[in-house]
Amino acid sequence: MSRDFEVPETHPRYQSLMMRERISQGVRDGLVDITGLIAHGRGEAFDYMIGERTIEPAVIAIEAAAAALKLAGNRVISDNGNTAVLCAGELVEMATAADAKLEVNLFHWSQERVERIIDHMRAHGAENALGVDADQWIPGLEQPRGRCCEEGIFTADVVFVPLEDGDRAQALKAMGKTVITVDLNPLSRTARTCDITIVDNIVRAVPLLTQKLGEIENVDELPASLESYDNRSNLDLVKETLVRSLGITS
Ligand code: ATP
Repeated sequence: MSRDFEVPETHPRYQSLMMRERISQGVRDGLVDITGLIAHGRGEAFDYMIGERTIEPAVIAIEAAAAALKLAGNRVISDNGNTAVLCAGELVEMATAADAKLEVNLFHWSQERVERIIDHMRAHGAENALGVDADQWIPGLEQPRGRCCEEGIFTADVVFVPLEDGDRAQALKAMGKTVITVDLNPLSRTARTCDITIVDNIVRAVPLLTQKLGEIENVDELPASLESYDNRSNLDLVKETLVRSLGITS
């Protein structure tokens, strides 16, 4: 059941309040697990600290992510409750631009929620979203968190797993995949584990990534540009931004 929620667009925290509302509505609609509220709150805090804008290290990571996706053989975008309610249509557009599959893959798994999220993605233009017939297993993850689809995450060489949990990111890395994430917390295990970490709000990062994918002209230049990307130093740049924002001096 939805509730009336009105906030004028002129409100200084309009975007943030609307995101919060979409997540809480997602809980009421059975799309978001209740713990998704906590994950969102943690993201909000970091977003506040980076000034709710796309910072330069995120732009650098987005370029690397576009290159990695373009060079991949089997690309998969992993979708969960939070990502679905925050940017379903944008993820569908990104999947088209990247020629990637979408797979609903949940930490707090339930068949019902997978189906609801797939319906939600379809309502936002997804022709095909995997996840219902999860027939494979991510090694190292216990039941039911390890479920995934053979034609999706299991055989993908590049996976885009925004707002992911550290264990799963590590398990995907252990499978030899190139793992890209969007995570506002540069200190999370996910952020530190992935090959490419975009420290930005997913609602800003995904459209920028789609745009970048569309701008790629010379595929031959991508391997070298990807080679020169270093996730650890990029995360250090993010941390420097946070330190400046907090006014910490050593
Ligand atoms: P880890 O296991 O990786 O150390 P965690 O347990 O803190 O991380 P989760 O709750 O599993 O993390 O995942 C949520 C992550 O997503 C958090 O790090 C949070 O900062 C981030 N996050 C939440 N909302 C957004 C958003 N809108 N955009 C980008 N990142 C977000």
